[in-house]
Amino acid sequence: MKFEEKTIDIIRRTHDVKSFRFRRPAGFDYKPGQYILVSLKVEGDMVTKPFSLSSSPTEKNHIEFTKKLTGHPFSNVLDNMKIGDFAVISGPFGKMTFEGEYSKVALLSGGIGITPMISICKYCTDMHSDVDIMLIYSNKTENDLAFKQELDEMMQDNINLKVLYTLTRASESWTGCRERICENMVVRAIPDYKERLFFICGPPAMVKSMEDMLTSMNISGDMIKKESLIGY
Ligand SMILES: Cc1cc2nc3c(=O)[nH]c(=O)nc-3n(C[C@H](O)[C@H](O)[C@H](O)COP(=O)(O)OP(=O)(O)OC[C@H]3O[C@@H](n4cnc5c(N)ncnc54)[C@H](O)[C@@H]3O)c2cc1C
Repeated sequence: MKFEEKTIDIIRRTHDVKSFRFRRPAGFDYKPGQYILVSLKVEGDMVTKPFSLSSSPTEKNHIEFTKKLTGHPFSNVLDNMKIGDFAVISGPFGKMTFEGEYSKVALLSGGIGITPMISICKYCTDMHSDVDIMLIYSNKTENDLAFKQELDEMMQDNINLKVLYTLTRASESWTGCRERICENMVVRAIPDYKERLFFICGPPAMVKSMEDMLTSMNISGDMIKKESLIGY
């Protein structure tokens, strides 16, 4: 489906992350974890880039994608976008989806790779699903933690959702985890990891290293779903 819609809301998530909301057109159905193609006029030309939906299909009135602002031309057009400005959107696309097909899942996310995980967590929470979700969310600093408040609120509403935040360059006051996601952390945080379906999303290098790590932990390929944010 391809449509042109006005921006109805813009939400600043962190110093360099913003979410963009559009009215959800009738008939636009998608699964948690899928992505859209967003086309904008950049320096006179239409430019198209993929973005995971950070909204959940349970949210009937809007769809949302979330952009890490890079200072590059496409990003700057989005950064300067005002409510009422148009974007051309097509989709949905992607196979890294989850609608509760498995009773226990582990989500491994790096940086802006949190976006499809937000869709999955929101969907399961809104559906009152009893799927056991363990999300490990890695970032550099406290200031980079997009959606932390939303995840903390979801954990209040969904006893089956647990989130482990880990920061590789945390300030001294951070009392949480400080490592990159590694085998040791997975074994400690997810002792029943062998019973879980894994989802990985983040920059390509992170996705590759997580996949290699899970393979070395004897997790078979059919228990790993992944989305690499190529271009980021
Ligand atoms: C399925 C999928 C889902 C995605 N979902 C998201 C999402 O939810 N949120 C999100 O933010 N992104 C997402 N992406 C990535 C997104 O599509 C963009 O590629 C990304 O946001 C960067 O776009 P940009 O225009 O800001 O930067 P670009 O100009 O495309 O630059 C991308 C990278 O290339 C390098 N680069 C480009 N130009 C230069 C230059 N002149 N000098 C030096 N380095 C340069 C930089 O490392 C830069 O970070 C997704 C990608 C895929 C494939």
